Formats: sequence, structure tokens, C-alpha cells
Amino acid sequence: MAINTISVESAIKHYNRIKGSRNYNRFEKLIKMASDKPVLDLLDSTATELRREKQALQRGMSVIRAFKREPDKRVFVNRSLMLEKVKFFGFDMDYTLAVYKSPEYEELGFSLIKERMVKIGYPESLLEFEYDPTFPIRGLWFDQLYGNLLKVDPFGNILVCVHGFEFLKGTDIHEMYPNKFVQMDENRFRIFNTLYELPIMYMLAVVVDLFCHNPEYTRKSTGVQSGDLTMTYSSIYQDVMAATDFVHGKNGPLKRATMEDREKYVLKDNRLPLLLDRMRHHGAKVFLATNSDYVYTNTIMQYLMDYPCKEGETKRDWVSFFDYIVVDARKPLFFGAGTILRQVDRETGALKLGTHTGEIRSGHIYSGGSVEVFSELMGSYDKEVLYIGDHIFGDILKSKKLKGWRTFLVVPELAQELLVWTEKRNLYSKLEDLDFQIGELYRNLDSACEKGPDISKIQQYIKKVTHEMDMSYGIIGSLFRSGSRQTFFASQVMRYADLYAASFLNLLHYPFSYVFRAPAMLMPHESTVGHEDVLQHNEIIASRSRHSADVSPISPMNNTKRHPLERSDTMNARRFADTPRQFTQVQEDDDSDGSKDSDKDKELTPPQEGDEA
Ligand SMILES: [Mg+2]
Repeated sequence: MAINTISVESAIKHYNRIKGSRNYNRFEKLIKMASDKPVLDLLDSTATELRREKQALQRGMSVIRAFKREPDKRVFVNRSLMLEKVKFFGFDMDYTLAVYKSPEYEELGFSLIKERMVKIGYPESLLEFEYDPTFPIRGLWFDQLYGNLLKVDPFGNILVCVHGFEFLKGTDIHEMYPNKFVQMDENRFRIFNTLYELPIMYMLAVVVDLFCHNPEYTRKSTGVQSGDLTMTYSSIYQDVMAATDFVHGKNGPLKRATMEDREKYVLKDNRLPLLLDRMRHHGAKVFLATNSDYVYTNTIMQYLMDYPCKEGETKRDWVSFFDYIVVDARKPLFFGAGTILRQVDRETGALKLGTHTGEIRSGHIYSGGSVEVFSELMGSYDKEVLYIGDHIFGDILKSKKLKGWRTFLVVPELAQELLVWTEKRNLYSKLEDLDFQIGELYRNLDSACEKGPDISKIQQYIKKVTHEMDMSYGIIGSLFRSGSRQTFFASQVMRYADLYAASFLNLLHYPFSYVFRAPAMLMPHESTVGHEDVLQHNEIIASRSRHSADVSPISPMNNTKRHPLERSDTMNARRFADTPRQFTQVQEDDDSDGSKDSDKDKELTPPQEGDEA
């Protein structure tokens, strides 16, 4: 198909030919030839890459040369991981293998909790409320003392404070929380970490707002009062949690409703059996460790893995996709003391008598246990396990801290977060421009300056743009940031999840030999000082010089200071540490001791394009 001066095929062919050259005049020419026709859409990611490179170049930024998969197919890396070293892939079920449809599932949870709340005596007007998916985000803290939902940064500084549906201003926040700062206290604050808890957060906001705006009640700092009756925010919290426990319980209405209408609430993806089979085909073991009970797990997994089979083949039982299965795992307890490991009788769904002590076998389902016992029976070495879950505390933090497992956090919200991140890029550019303007105003000023420039207008504008950006995510803003500041949730993700993605199915886009490489974590002195900046050598730099790490054998250092001690009793002692001649810094993705003889003194040259890896 010929389009204008260039066809799709030749555009791609041409691009492939010139991409190695990084010759932007040639890129420019290609874009011009292609841009006035739908060929840009057809070129898809190739054209996007071209445009991005061109923009980056225009903005004076260095061009990102590394190939990246499309953002929605990508797995993001906090700590490097070699996929081929993973011998065990472990899965959580709820919100990981079984992705619940949003907002349908949260609406169901909210509506069941509100019905329960009315049953235990809360006003019937509660029934008029509907779940609002734009309000709650994961990672919020609920303050039982003052009844507020808080979005905090990694250090406990408050980013957003909302009382019911009312967003509090700086002075009000300051009154309740001196310096707008909170310190984690488990008896007072509850951190909502899971997607299950979105309806709970919304229910707390609804109930607090309802009572605060009810003329029969007077608002007090720690609750509301009507005559002799005092309702503290703490008691409201207890009631909401009790209602939730009832709804989420083993035979509770949430599980019943989900099992009765799996199509409505559970997302089915035919790539799931494919990925599990590929993992095992590659030689890894696959296990399931879920907190759900056998009956629920069986019903949901049957639905997820139920696909028509080829003629002549018998339909596979969902259990056959896993090597080991544990239900009722009771994470995070599972990662610590654990419970008794028992076998499930699949005929009756009941637990077999006694503790299971033999080996754990494929095709069987076990209940409870602990990670210690489970790992021993599976024969797994901690670092060989990649555990995939959605619960930052129960799945990721505990498995990482107590067991040292490699971790993969599923963050379904990431799909929407990335959409805003890319669609609202004009707002980010505006913020960059405003920052640039402030820099310009201070450009030639130093400590001799008597009166600084007036930056209040720019600051106000920064607030306006930041607010617009926050609102693009939802009423409480992004899960990961507030303006340029990160959230507590974001810091937990970075600290404990080695990998994270909107779905673990993104692993399908990587070969099992893949090395997930973490991007460099730059400190402000590294991210704001370019390599091209020139530093003037001065006395301070000279006095702090650590250039003793000079590897040259004819270095004067070697001749004067670095010789062995001369006294006979210390013949083998050295006065200084030798400068290492090989790589000595420990790499997180490398377990080898680097002592292979063949590597010694080998002259290394950078690989060239076309070299075999
Ligand atoms: Mg889960």
C-alpha cells in the first residue's frame, strides 16, 4: 500500500535500517514523509519511539536508547532480577490470579457492608449511598481518634486530610496534627493496603460525613454527640470493621454473591493458562498460596481455568496447572509461625485429620501450614522463589522481610495511573516550565541580594497546576504521588516489591532468560548535575580527593606508600588495602563469585552491535 511518498512497509524497513545510526536528520525526513498520513498510527510503537526521540532531542535531553516494551505491557523494576534464576513462581489468588472487576466488585462489597451496618443499628439513610470509585485509593491511613482519612508521604507528613467528605485546610490539619505530621501507631491508625478495603474506606467517609451533618448530633473533636449518646470515631471504625468481617467471612455474603455470579465479578483471561504452562515448560515449579478457603478457591479457579479443549483431549482440572497448592494460608501468619498443615479431601472439601508431615504432592491440595514447612517440603531455596501478589503487607512485605523471597506486586491501578501520566503530560511540562521560571528569577542572585524576586504568582500557579494534575487521577489524587511528593504507599512499593506491574500477565512479554534491570536510583546531586557539567577543581575538591584508587603500576602512590611493612613479624601484612583490579561491588542480580579463571586478566571490550550476547 503506497501512502504519499512512503509505504508502511518501507517506513518500517527504512527505520530499522537507520535506527542504529541515530542520525536525526534521517529520522526527521522519515517522520516528514510519514506524518501527514495515517501511517503514523500504522507504524504504531515505532513511530511513537521516533516522535519521543525527536522531542527529547528538541528539549536538549539525552535520547533514551534502550529498547522498552510498550508501557501497558511492561514490568517495572525496583531491584534487578534474573528470571532464569527463578525456580518457583508462587501466586496469591484474590486480586492476583482472580482479578475482580472494578467498580462492580467494590460496589458489591460496599452495598453488603451498608446493609450490615443498618442491621446493627445505623440509620437507614445509609442505604441511599452508592459507592463512588473516584474517592478511595489504596494506602490511606484512617485516624480512629479524629475520624480522618489521611494520605501521607513516606515520612508521615500529611499530604491530604479528609474528614467525611470534607477536605481540611492547612490550619485545621495543623491544629489536630502539629507540623502536619503523624507517626505510625497501630492502636490509632489503620493503613488500608488492599483493594478489598476500598469500600471500607468509602464507608468510613460516608458514616463520618453522615453524622457530622446530622442536625441531631453535635460535632466534637473525637466524635459526635446527641444528648447522652456519644459516638466516637473509634467506635464507628470498630462497627465498620465488624460489618466488614461479617461480609468478608468464610461463609459471608460477599463470597456467596461472587460464587453465584462469577462472570459479573471475576475477570477471565485466556492468557493465564498459557503463562502458567510456559513457566512449567521452562522448568520452574508453580504454586498457589491463598488465604481463601478450599470451596471458594475451587469455585473461582475452576472458572478461571475453564477453557474448551481440543478434540480428543480431556478437559484439564485447574489443579493440574500447579505443582503445589495451599489454601487457608493465613498470610501474613503463614510467613511467620504459621498454622498446622493439613490435607484437603477434594471429595468432601473437608480437612483430613491430623497434621500432614509427608512430602507435598502435585494434584493434592493442602491447608494452612507455614512458609518454613512449605519451603522445606517443596525443596525451595529462598532466593529462587518469586512470589506474586497484590497485598503490599500480607504478600510482599512479609515474604520479603521474613523469607527473602523475590517479590512481584500486582498493582491494577497502574493502568489508570499510567494513562493520566501520559495523557496529562502537558501539565507536567507546565510544572517543569514554572520551575524553570523560578530558576531564571534567581539566576544571577547571590547572598549580596537585598530583596528577592516575587515568586508568589508562580507558586500559586504551581498549586493550580498540581491540583489539576491530582484531580486527573481522582478526588484524592494519585496512588503514588501528590504533586512532586511521593506517597507512603509508593515508598512501600519501592522498598519491598522487586518487580511491579498492572498485571503479572505482562510476564508473557519477556523471555524466561530475561534480566530485569533496575533503573539507577539517582540522588538529587546526581539527577540535577549533568555529566556534561564542568566542575572547577578547587582546594576543597583536592583535599577530599580519594584518588588513591589508582590502578596504575607506575603510580607514585605504589612506589611510596603502598609497599608491605618491613618488620619481619609482619612480613605478610599490608599497610594499605590494595586497589581492586576486578569488579568488587555486590550486584543484586549476580550470585557468582566472579572467580572463574577464564575471566581473570581477560581484556574486555564493549560488545558491538551484531555481537552474540
Ligand atoms: Mg490478594
